[in-house]
Amino acid sequence: MISTRLPTPGRGLYPQRPGAVGTGPPHTPLRPMWCCRACGQPWPCAPARLLLRAEYARNRTGLSIYLAGLMYEAMRDLYHLNPHDGPDPKTLFDRFLAWGSPRRRRVEASR
Ligand SMILES: [Zn+2]
Repeated sequence: MISTRLPTPGRGLYPQRPGAVGTGPPHTPLRPMWCCRACGQPWPCAPARLLLRAEYARNRTGLSIYLAGLMYEAMRDLYHLNPHDGPDPKTLFDRFLAWGSPRRRRVEASR
């Protein structure tokens, strides 16, 4: 049977990184507010960024892909919570992606 209704999007990527360190809660986001469940700061908090950089030290492209997926999920949650005054796209880009981008070598950057 062909339907004209669009499917409801799923919940998308589940944020399970960085992994837990020690006995406390992991520095992963609490949805839909996207604050850290361990320290309460906007996610990714400073400890989460450090842990993610360590976990993805050999796969910075994978880190960017992971963070891009989570930024999409955060946009959906945050704009749903506050549709008239949600965070602007640049703020979310800086928060989720700008810090985790693979570094370019000096030769590539100077072109
Ligand atoms: Zn945290």
